[in-house]
Amino acid sequence: MSSTCLPIASGPTDRLQRRRVVISHGDHQVVVGGGVPVMVQSMTNTDTADAIGTAIQVKDLARAGSEVVRITVNSPEAAAAVPAIREQLDRMGVEVPLVGDFHYNGHTLLNDYPDCARALSKYRINPGNVGKGAKRDTQFAQMIEVACRYNKPVRIGVNWGSLDQVLLARIMDENAQRQAPWTAQAVMYEALVTSAIENAQRAEELGLGGDKIILSCKVSGVQDLIAVYRELARRCDYPLHLGLTEAGMGSKGIVASTAALSILLQEGIGDTIRISLTPEPGGDRTREVIVGQEILQTMGLRKFTPMVIACPGCGRTTSTVFQDLADKIQTYLRDQMPIWKGVYPGVESMNVAVMGCIVNGPGESKHANIGISLPGTGESPAAPVFIDGEKRMTLRGDRIAEEFQVIVQEYVQTHYNKQATA
Ligand code: SF4
Repeated sequence: MSSTCLPIASGPTDRLQRRRVVISHGDHQVVVGGGVPVMVQSMTNTDTADAIGTAIQVKDLARAGSEVVRITVNSPEAAAAVPAIREQLDRMGVEVPLVGDFHYNGHTLLNDYPDCARALSKYRINPGNVGKGAKRDTQFAQMIEVACRYNKPVRIGVNWGSLDQVLLARIMDENAQRQAPWTAQAVMYEALVTSAIENAQRAEELGLGGDKIILSCKVSGVQDLIAVYRELARRCDYPLHLGLTEAGMGSKGIVASTAALSILLQEGIGDTIRISLTPEPGGDRTREVIVGQEILQTMGLRKFTPMVIACPGCGRTTSTVFQDLADKIQTYLRDQMPIWKGVYPGVESMNVAVMGCIVNGPGESKHANIGISLPGTGESPAAPVFIDGEKRMTLRGDRIAEEFQVIVQEYVQTHYNKQATA
């Protein structure tokens, strides 16, 4: 590790050089860092004191593909519920490791509720919310001691919305002594990175293994996130949890997260990701998992579920048949994956094309494992189906969607069935 006396510029390191941290629940292990594929995680938005409601949402997130799920542990009632949540998940056969998110009172809760401390697989500690004044170091040490006692990894998770103000003041003072002081933005970046690294070093001094620490420095601006993580990656070899905090709702949240994360991932920065989307009222929390998977899969970094290639449609597609079919197939493929991934290894690599007309339909369909080219306006009402690049059949009538789904299902059974191919 090295320190710097220059404003943050750039200089990524390779993911292979990162330490390897294991997050485990029983025999189930999730590895972060050390060059293994980037892990997708998420966080619940239920009241953790509601053990059943939280266990159900954790199960949904895990079923959607979240490999680790974080829950807030903010009160005695929440801490008391954690073992019950874990037991309920175990009864449902959900092995996903649980991470406890602690702020302000984590030292008290982890000490007063040992069953909670044991049931969690990792603790997230925000060094800006550990305590004020003289209590800060003591309370941080108490949390690290619990992590050491139960052999749990921690994430030192810095967030610019709750940055350690004492540390920020120190860095501002240092900046004031410079002949050419840095900008306020550069000082903020420096404070974020310094907070993460100094607290990680403090945790190691307190006895926590260097292979038990993950770092994050979350901010809500795309360019800020890129600058901060480039510097964090350059200055340490801890695995990095990547995410744009408070990304926002709908397309804005997805676009901002994708823009920031894809640049960093392309540079080899980021060992685990979380997409912090604000759900619409009543919206599905699992969307953040799907977006995280889709970022990694469309970048070619991991494969999670068969991809549907669909054209955007245009004036040649005046009915909704084409959109309906693309939507149905996408939903069908994702819904099948929890079953398929254990039975049909490699199915996540499959590409399915759903195209709106003859212009690009046959060509794109030939490039996919299975493709269908629907008839555009004015074309004869026939939908040729291509399998592994060859036209195999033509579908007609009102049941094209159902028939195409059966064709996809048969393709999966014959091409990815490990018993049939053994
Ligand atoms: S494939 Fe046909 S329907 Fe789809 S965007 Fe191209 S021209 Fe339009």
